[in-house]
Amino acid sequence: MSSHDGSTPSSDPSMAQPSQPSISMSSGSRGRTDLAWGHCREAPELSVGCKKTKLVCLYCAQVFAGGGINRFKQHLDGA
Ligand SMILES: [Zn+2]
Repeated sequence: MSSHDGSTPSSDPSMAQPSQPSISMSSGSRGRTDLAWGHCREAPELSVGCKKTKLVCLYCAQVFAGGGINRFKQHLDGA
């Protein structure tokens, strides 16, 4: 058995191609990008048994059981 002298050639560096992440800036991701999310919070503790997580206004603690962020946006507008 001949021991290696440490000059074992490693993998060809030209093979090491940088894994370029696919930049997907598509606008198909709707959801948490709404500014209204900055004025409310989800209340999972109030949503037990509910299919949807309730939202709570950070200012008046009003609970929104349905309608989601769109309903809350109406609340921000004064509805
Ligand atoms: Zn409010």
